[in-house]
Amino acid sequence: DEFVREEFSKGALRSKTVEDVLTPLDQCFMLNASSVLDFRSMSMIMQSGYTRIPIYEEERTNLVDMLYLKDLALVDPDDCVPLSTISKFYNHPLHFVFNDTKLDAVLEEFKRGKSHLAIVQKVNNEGEGDPFYEAMGLVTLEDVIEEIIRSE
Ligand code: ATP
Ligand code: ATP
Repeated sequence: DEFVREEFSKGALRSKTVEDVLTPLDQCFMLNASSVLDFRSMSMIMQSGYTRIPIYEEERTNLVDMLYLKDLALVDPDDCVPLSTISKFYNHPLHFVFNDTKLDAVLEEFKRGKSHLAIVQKVNNEGEGDPFYEAMGLVTLEDVIEEIIRSE
């Protein structure tokens, strides 16, 4: 019944982590910070279908900015504006969560904050050097809602 269902989905939100539902970085549509917004790149962005697009510098694990599709509304592809000009103008905040964050906690953050996307990072302490934060993927409100629906 409804009560049982509700408790079950709460359980899934409490026990599962963002790492269980994220979209892995190698499957993410992202842009290089050095890109130029010309006809080719803007068509690719449109065709990707994504509303929020992370921007990386040098390496795909080094996320430095976000582009929202709506930022392109006033951009003319003929002007070949550098992506960084647009991303610096809008300056959307990046929102990070750790890989072991529970889904109920990230849902609360999504409800509180303005953005419905977070970058999932972990501490990488493999290898010789000092531990460092490494991006693993993206989690959005939709990923959490899917988990709620799945567990019903
Ligand atoms: P919206 O629904 O707000 O227009 P969207 O369709 O771009 O946004 P979401 O609905 O938030 O994205 O997420 C749908 C799925 O796509 C989720 O699994 C999410 O992790 C994934 N996703 C979101 N952005 C990207 C991206 N830039 N590259 C790859 N996957 C993404
Ligand atoms: P997104 O968050 O994907 O950028 P959005 O901010 O335009 O989209 P939603 O977040 O889906 O819109 O909805 C926020 C609130 O604004 C909801 O209460 C929704 O009903 C309302 N809303 C959405 N579009 C309009 C609109 N064109 N006019 C008035 N209210 C709207």
